[in-house]
Amino acid sequence: MLAMVLERPGKGRQHGPLQLRDVPKPKPGEGQLLVRVSTCAVCRTDLHIVDGELPDPKLPLIPGHQIVGYVEEIGTGVQSKFEIGDRVGIPWLGWTDGECVYCQSNRENLCNRARFTGYTIDGGYAEFAIADMRFCFHLPNEYNDVNVSPLLCAGMLGYRSYRKTGDAHRLGIYGFGNAAHLIAQVALYQRRKVFAFTRPGDKAGRESARSLGVVWAGGSDEMPPEKLDAAIIFAPVGALVPAALRALAKGGIVVCGGIHMSDIPSFPYVDLWGERVICSVANLTRRDGEEFLEIAPRVRVRTKTEMFPLEEANTALEKFRSGQLNGTAVLMIGTER
Ligand SMILES: [Zn+2]
Ligand SMILES: [Zn+2]
Repeated sequence: MLAMVLERPGKGRQHGPLQLRDVPKPKPGEGQLLVRVSTCAVCRTDLHIVDGELPDPKLPLIPGHQIVGYVEEIGTGVQSKFEIGDRVGIPWLGWTDGECVYCQSNRENLCNRARFTGYTIDGGYAEFAIADMRFCFHLPNEYNDVNVSPLLCAGMLGYRSYRKTGDAHRLGIYGFGNAAHLIAQVALYQRRKVFAFTRPGDKAGRESARSLGVVWAGGSDEMPPEKLDAAIIFAPVGALVPAALRALAKGGIVVCGGIHMSDIPSFPYVDLWGERVICSVANLTRRDGEEFLEIAPRVRVRTKTEMFPLEEANTALEKFRSGQLNGTAVLMIGTER
């Protein structure tokens, strides 16, 4: 089967980081599905992985963890909730041990031995993928293979970040990319007041946020017109943490929604004082995924996508890196049905 393969992570190379290879088609083991991949959306985490910013990836690696495909073969050994031909979504969380202190306390996202699709196990930049069926999702019929794929990470992890904000009424979102675009729609549906913060000077980003119905859109160097009850930071920029903190009302929370961020500069304690909280969000649980896939069609969450053939994964990554995309990059791999 054809796959785009990462052999050596790192920055500053001349050619694209991924190579098109013909690799053996994998076989599903006990409890696994063999999935014929239809689409795979590109996530910022894929960039962090190819750039070598995340430790110890599987190598060589097939990246990609927002996979939509069709069940081709079912491994033996367990009762399956899927049948041959079913459409299936494969997310970032690929496997947990089910027995550590985190798994035992409904925090499988923090599992000590967790494995991740497209990072420590092969992902979806390929014609076929293998997945542990317990971590796969049925996908809502309202979406086709292209526009459902960004829901699988940007949507699900964004949703976990959003849930951490509790019932915050005035919600700031820093970094108005894919995840923000999806989660703002959920927040607006739930009648929150949303404040969008974009890169200073990013007029297009602000327009896009306003078109969703946010009450205010401005630069991340600006203060919102009123204090916030919560802020979610999706941009991988540590300096936004003290900036968001200064925009919070007492008791507010800053949620860092990314897997990687530049260093956070120091800030005066008075900015944290008043029971303000800073926290991070790591990975997802299956429950996050199921909840989000249930709410997304009700909200009618719309995704914006830009399509690329599998062989052009490097172009998609490069355009993502340089901010030249107008939506989530989606690799078109199998035929869409
Ligand atoms: Zn565990
Ligand atoms: Zn992701």
